[in-house]
Amino acid sequence: MSFELDNLSPQTKAFLSRRATGTGLLVDGHWQTPAAGQTFAALDPATGMETGQIARADAADVDCAVAAARAALPKWKATVPAERARILWKIADLIEANIDELAEIETLDQGKPLFVGRWAEIPGAVGQFRFFAGQAMAIEGSTLESSINYQPQGKQVRSWTVREPVGVVAAIVPWNSPLVLTAMKLAPALAAGCTVVLKPAEDTSLSALRLAELMIEAGLPAGVLNVVTGLGAETGAALAAHPLVDKIAFTGSTATGRAVLDAAKTNFKRVTLELGGKSPSIVMPDADLTQAIPGVANAIFFNGGQVCIAGSRLYVHRSIHDSVVAGVAAYAKGLKLGHGLAPDTQMGPVVSARHAERVEGFLQRARAEGATMLTGGERFGDAGTFIQPTVVVDVNPGMEIVREEVFGPVLVVQAFDDAEEVIAAANSSEYGLAASVWTEGFSTAHRMSSDIKAGTVWINCHAMYDASLAIGGVKQSGWGRDSGKQALDNYLEWKTVCAVI
Ligand code: NAD
Repeated sequence: MSFELDNLSPQTKAFLSRRATGTGLLVDGHWQTPAAGQTFAALDPATGMETGQIARADAADVDCAVAAARAALPKWKATVPAERARILWKIADLIEANIDELAEIETLDQGKPLFVGRWAEIPGAVGQFRFFAGQAMAIEGSTLESSINYQPQGKQVRSWTVREPVGVVAAIVPWNSPLVLTAMKLAPALAAGCTVVLKPAEDTSLSALRLAELMIEAGLPAGVLNVVTGLGAETGAALAAHPLVDKIAFTGSTATGRAVLDAAKTNFKRVTLELGGKSPSIVMPDADLTQAIPGVANAIFFNGGQVCIAGSRLYVHRSIHDSVVAGVAAYAKGLKLGHGLAPDTQMGPVVSARHAERVEGFLQRARAEGATMLTGGERFGDAGTFIQPTVVVDVNPGMEIVREEVFGPVLVVQAFDDAEEVIAAANSSEYGLAASVWTEGFSTAHRMSSDIKAGTVWINCHAMYDASLAIGGVKQSGWGRDSGKQALDNYLEWKTVCAVI
């Protein structure tokens, strides 16, 4: 299991010696150490080995970063859309040109198998910058026919709307898919003409620092992007409460989302929240099981279940229940766990020791409530933070393991008898992020996609994702959408202009 730092590519080693040394705060185009000189360790979750020291920004550092973003705003806002688009496109090109290094950094920091970053998430980040490069040049207002009838004699009223950037954005992101989730905030914010202070998650700061280097190389002016690494309760809280921040773009847990919302109240910051999920995968009796079985298994075990849209609740029609569950359990047992940098690894560790303990806590309490681990349910290996892919049966809707987001490789399975019953069960969650329905029936697919309360419903697939497709949730999964045209709206205000001419 051990993976020596010596095996890393020369590019990654050079990056670590440049940035993972406590000098990784980006303020007004300069890399600097935090004012109080504090740092914390970055760890490889597969080995527990330290990979560097990350700068720990406090409120004073956050103040400087926000001031830099504020100062850079007028010029960036006035930069013509074509120039903003050119820079965004160049960022995408540079990410693509450095994709192997970025994938290695992401694996080292987060634990994910190399292929997840290399073939899914980092191309996803490229897609975000290219999509929003286009959107930067398609921002439009409207002209309005008003019915105002008290204008002076001989005059006319003309009214129109324009879109303007919201201002300084605090982008706060989690650790599960760091680079692509960061891109989902930065690309639309910069396209809209906003400036940004980015706060990466404390467990996974590295890829944000490499991305910031590439963004400077792409020609992004000083102060337009600032990066403050640090702890949630310190750096994140100071940023969310800062009076000169106009908008918070947050992705993370529902609990932290509430704290962010409270902090935003002080100056009525605009807030978008991409929060947790407990998404159902539903296998109907007419499903093509050759697709559905690996599909629902991948929906939960991809990235070790550390995916907001993971299909963590599986509902299977009773007539096919046993064969589907046997197939999913066999898939889980067959997954090769290991260091994400090893080429044959299919599932890596969970992100940290703290998170592994959290997942184990869920499994222990589920057992105590009467659930059975059909496969998995234990730690794996003698180093790192690996959890076996786990399939949990003998559950009921009231159990914590069915209701709460575990955010690990843990699937709970329940049988159902008809569509009405399973729609009610799917909708019984307080979350509403995503769902998938596996069926060959055209009418079933349409009806269920309309009846399920979720931000996204997939038919015969799960977690299909593209920069053009909005993603986000209803209920306690959050407010607003990332990705797609809808995301640009998060970063724009409407201004109405009314003129007598
Ligand atoms: P988290 O809420 O613990 O942390 C998210 C970010 O918030 C981190 O950068 C953290 O440092 C910061 N933070 C913590 N406390 C803060 C505070 N008081 N004020 C401001 N910032 C603070 O979440 P996590 O454990 O890093 O990520 C996992 C969660 O993210 C899961 O619930 C998952 O479902 C969710 N998520 C949602 C989406 C989506 O699109 N809906 C995508 C990915 C992850």
